[in-house]
Amino acid sequence: MSTAIIGAGIAGLQCAAVLAAADRSVVLFEASSGPGGRCGSHSTPFGAFDLGTQPFRATSPAFQGQVQRWRNRSAVGRYHGRVGTIDAGVWRPQADGGPDLYSALPRSSLLGRLLAQGHELRTQRRIVAVERAGNGLRLRSEGGDEGVFERVVVAVPTPQAGALVGLSPALTRAVGRVVFEPVWAAWLRTPGPVVATLDAAEVRGGPLGFVRRRSAAPDRPSDGGWVAQATPEWSAQHLDAGEATVAEALGRALTAVLPDRPAFTDRGAHLWRHGRVRQAIGSKFVADDALGLSLCGDGCLGARLEHAWLSGRALGHHLLEG
Ligand SMILES: Cc1cc2nc3c(=O)[nH]c(=O)nc-3n(C[C@H](O)[C@H](O)[C@H](O)COP(=O)(O)OP(=O)(O)OC[C@H]3O[C@@H](n4cnc5c(N)ncnc54)[C@H](O)[C@@H]3O)c2cc1C
Repeated sequence: MSTAIIGAGIAGLQCAAVLAAADRSVVLFEASSGPGGRCGSHSTPFGAFDLGTQPFRATSPAFQGQVQRWRNRSAVGRYHGRVGTIDAGVWRPQADGGPDLYSALPRSSLLGRLLAQGHELRTQRRIVAVERAGNGLRLRSEGGDEGVFERVVVAVPTPQAGALVGLSPALTRAVGRVVFEPVWAAWLRTPGPVVATLDAAEVRGGPLGFVRRRSAAPDRPSDGGWVAQATPEWSAQHLDAGEATVAEALGRALTAVLPDRPAFTDRGAHLWRHGRVRQAIGSKFVADDALGLSLCGDGCLGARLEHAWLSGRALGHHLLEG
């Protein structure tokens, strides 16, 4: 029997990488059509827009090592955009240049694809139940029985994990402590290059939380593409607003805060219903070793891609010790 990992985001994929490197048999189950999760890219007629992670930080030696390995494969480059804040319409660049930032090349979804290489990944398999089956655990998807596994790792956004960890009181309690916030993210585009004095900004006041110019990252199209993320509060108030309405509203808000007031001609939006972690569990992972069921992901450790990767890695090493 092998280990099943539910969720092929960066946490689940890194957990799989650690187990597979020790010759353990792993099967990944992913609800969507490909790996990467919130480190994903959105295809449009005007190329891909990274509507989730982008750019990202690497502060721990372990993740810095992973970033270096990606850089050696030309899968990641340094992000040199001008980052700052827009407060009451006034742009202020970060005084010290801020932390080192990195960007996947040429789009965020590549990282998931690289990490998934060599693993058995079953896509379009939404797991709906984890049940006891003799000494193992049986997975059920919307399509039926997916088999019995010695151990099961739940690596889905933590609010969605509740239905999968019900066999374990410890995991159920841990999941209950986590708070996630929704994020509406819009892609917006003008056909020509934009004369921009800024590349990425935290916006204070109004519907926008964070905005960034697509072409500030390496290997992106040079047209006037932007991504605008709404604040969690605005996103929560507009959960049912519809993609077209949200894209229109965030486009208007972005035009209003950018110094050159670009007129966006093309737009779209995506809702990350469980987008960002506001309150994490505070430990790298949670494991019910007696049951063979465990939990990893950014909801365990923090709100960033690095936290997800560290969480999956730590759980992988823990499972090797067991
Ligand atoms: C808008 C936005 C912007 C962000 N910006 C940044 C940033 O700039 N820098 C940064 O460091 N981080 C950023 N993040 C955070 C970062 O994307 C996440 O921390 C990280 O990607 C989480 O990885 P994960 O593996 O824990 O979860 P996920 O990426 O959510 O992966 C979980 C996977 O599980 C799958 N799944 C869910 N339910 C099931 C099921 N029942 N069965 C099977 N599969 C299932 C999902 O489809 C998904 O692929 C951002 C996130 C968002 C939403």
